[in-house]
Amino acid sequence: MRRILVLHTGGTIGMEASPAGLVPVPGLVPSLLERYRRPGLDLTVLELAELIDSSAITPRHWNQIIAQLAEHYHHYDGFVLTHGTDTMAYTASVLAFALQGLAKPVVLTGAQLPLLHPRSDGWGNLADALEAACQSDLHEVSIAFNRLLLRGCRARKLSAEQFAGFDSPNCPPLAQFAIQTHWQRQHWRTAQRPFQAQSLNDTLKLACLFLTPGYGAQLAGQAMLTQELDAAVVMSFGNGNAPADPLLLEGVANMHQRGAPVVNISQVLQGAVAVGAYAASQALAGAGALSGRDLTPEAALAKLHYLLSTGLSAQPLLAALDCSLAGEMSD
Ligand code: ASP
Repeated sequence: MRRILVLHTGGTIGMEASPAGLVPVPGLVPSLLERYRRPGLDLTVLELAELIDSSAITPRHWNQIIAQLAEHYHHYDGFVLTHGTDTMAYTASVLAFALQGLAKPVVLTGAQLPLLHPRSDGWGNLADALEAACQSDLHEVSIAFNRLLLRGCRARKLSAEQFAGFDSPNCPPLAQFAIQTHWQRQHWRTAQRPFQAQSLNDTLKLACLFLTPGYGAQLAGQAMLTQELDAAVVMSFGNGNAPADPLLLEGVANMHQRGAPVVNISQVLQGAVAVGAYAASQALAGAGALSGRDLTPEAALAKLHYLLSTGLSAQPLLAALDCSLAGEMSD
């Protein structure tokens, strides 16, 4: 018997049409999920008090989800989180760090079309998510979507049009669901320490600064100089290259001097920051930006948020940023 907890947070999967557009409907997902009951599967379905379009998610919601998972952790064998697709990769990344020592599956899923739509992709996504949540050796946060199981802290939303909404461009899938399920266990992680949930400090000021040719570099520099950020992710070009713009570099150096980490990641979907591959990658590093290698923006922000929430002091925090904590980046 597998005991699975489904936690519904909102999103298209449980929405219906309103005059303003699709809105979440309380009670809908729990009632529709009745069809998944079968011998050997003990299913409990809970909903967050306030169901949201995931574009409205905040650290406060993440803390509610973390608290629910922590409260029920020892009573279930696996967890499915139904969630809007817009920020699913953010939530999956946050949970991958916040649920340290996870030794059970936590599988996020959702849909591009509501379950109430005759062509909804949600039914298959839910079936795959439940299947994954029953795997006792899947010790990580993942996303089940369009017949793929992806590492949560590597996944990105890539389409608002196709059923193939997600992929993990720098990490192979954890499973492919076909007539047979192809579990790629060689890529699965194993828990290294006891489970411990970390809630997030919801007052932190984190920014993701996307460089663009011309004024964009100055704008990023100004934000770092004036916004009292606790940490920043700079999305640079190619292998981590950026213009040696004085304001940009002053901003990075200012953050670095006051112990606020700046992580350099690439705007490009596939590949990694490689400091030194091009001379143009040296300026950001010289000013104090850390290489985020092949981190996604979602994972970079989540990792910073998690590490700053633990209250680690500067040196261990920088050391932790440089290590893969949840399979989020290549060595
Ligand atoms: N706006 C929706 C959400 O993220 C989109 C979806 O679920 O597909 O909640």
